[in-house]
Formats: sequence, structure tokens, C-alpha cells
Amino acid sequence: MLQSVRKDIPCYTIRRSGIHGSGLFARRRICEGTKVIEYVGEKIDKEESNRRGWERIRQAQKTGDAAVYIFTLDDEFDLDGSVSWNPARLINHSCDPNCEAYIEDGHIWIGAIREIQRGEELSYNYGFDLEHWDAHPCRCGSKRCVGYIVGEEYWSRLKQRIARRKKRLLASEK
Ligand SMILES: [Zn+2]
Repeated sequence: MLQSVRKDIPCYTIRRSGIHGSGLFARRRICEGTKVIEYVGEKIDKEESNRRGWERIRQAQKTGDAAVYIFTLDDEFDLDGSVSWNPARLINHSCDPNCEAYIEDGHIWIGAIREIQRGEELSYNYGFDLEHWDAHPCRCGSKRCVGYIVGEEYWSRLKQRIARRKKRLLASEK
């Protein structure tokens, strides 16, 4: 018998995550290229976005809590996803993710970049830059983990910074 995929049932479920807090998990096999969930939220202008961004960086430095909530939509507007009606805000960062975030026609999507098995936790790379790297330690547990939540394009520079810091620490212990 052919099994049809129910389009009205989301392909994810919310559970406690081993990485951090709650996470989203595949409730069935998801094919590569599938739009898993739209990242929705409040549309805000750049000034408001800047204000909220700083507020959250200060909070992160206190609690070690990291989450990408504010996405750049275009030159004028950003999207703040820290609203209860946006389950995509719960998706955790991973250094070896199975999804990616991208913009299509003014909408932000979290899409599968490889086949995802039922029960797997959904993740994407938050793509943070190096500015506040040490405020965001990563606990993704993947073999590729670089220890901090940083976009892959910055990994080589991140590794240099970690090495420099280690050297300084060793020198200060002598
Ligand atoms: Zn990691």
C-alpha cells in the first residue's frame, strides 16, 4: 500500500535536547532539500534590531545563553524570531548541521541540506561572526565541533584565536 505524506502534519516535534534546552526533532524521514519550517517573527527596523541585539549580547555574556533570533531580511528590515509562535527559534546550532537557514522571496526557511532520519535533532549553523565568540560556547557534541558557535567561514581564524589564548594562559602560569 502506498503511504501518502500528510502535508498538514509538521515533520518535526519539540522535545528536550541533549545540546541545549528544547529542540526540534524529525518525526519522519526528511529528504534533502525539504523546506522543514519557516522561521517567522516580528519585522523590525534596523534601529530597533540593533537595540535588541545589544541587549541580548549583554544577556548572553551573563548566562552563556546563545540563540540567533534576529535575522537580516533586507537593507531596511530584520526579523526577530523570539516569539512564542515561532517554533523554529528552538532549533539548536551545530558545527555539523543537517539544515541551513536561507531567505527566499522575503521569507526565512530552515531547509534540510541532507537526508534526515526520523528522531534526529534538527540543527543549523547560526553563522555568528567572531566578535563575541567566547560568549557562545558550543555543546553540539559532533566530531567536527570547534567549541564555539561561529560560522564555518570563520573557523580557521577562530582556531588561531583559541591557540593564541591557550599560549597566553600557559605563559601566565609559568
Ligand atoms: Zn559544535
